[in-house]
Amino acid sequence: MAKDSKPAPGFDAGKVAEIHQHLHSHLPSESALRVKALETLLVDKGLVNPKTIDAWVEAYTEEIGPKRGAMVVAKACCDPEYMARLLRDAPAAIDELGFLGKATAHLKVVENTDEVHNLVVCTLCSCYPFSILGIAPPWYKAAAYRSRAVRDPRGVLAEFGLDLDVDIEVHVWDSTAELRYLVLPQRPEGTEDLSEEELAGLVSRNSMIGTDRELGENIEADG
Ligand code: FE
Repeated sequence: MAKDSKPAPGFDAGKVAEIHQHLHSHLPSESALRVKALETLLVDKGLVNPKTIDAWVEAYTEEIGPKRGAMVVAKACCDPEYMARLLRDAPAAIDELGFLGKATAHLKVVENTDEVHNLVVCTLCSCYPFSILGIAPPWYKAAAYRSRAVRDPRGVLAEFGLDLDVDIEVHVWDSTAELRYLVLPQRPEGTEDLSEEELAGLVSRNSMIGTDRELGENIEADG
């Protein structure tokens, strides 16, 4: 044992602990670190080109999601016959716009009405219609959302800033790899003169998952 185990002058154990805690709280999440480690290994072994990964992420973030979903919703809002086809057979109707992908091969569109609000979750993992909504938000994959969306959907919606009237029924849809869901939000009042493109600009990703209800008030709750 060292003769003199006294801390150096000016040493503040509390301060050091605080700094330590601060550094830890800014580390990426465990899953993010795991993904990074996996990516590093795949790249090191020459199995994956990092440029390919970047291109895929960019395509799903910038070009596909949630723009394609918003275009589907906007078309349904403007064209009642298209809406009927979309509700009857979503994959066929989405294919009309050329957006059919693996994640839309088995997709059901659920319509919000004055009486019903729909909320989508995947309680098992993170099944999501990524071919029209892009990359799922981090909270969609979080255990807290997956369990509480079923147990306490109104509580979860309130945390997203959506206080639903008690008269509105909440339908929670549990996605699987075989069947995914897309919420069809209601067209806002006063948007009769908007073009399909302008309407698509109002459709948020969260409104198509069901954590948002009113179009044009895009309340984002990432994280
Ligand atoms: Fe899943």
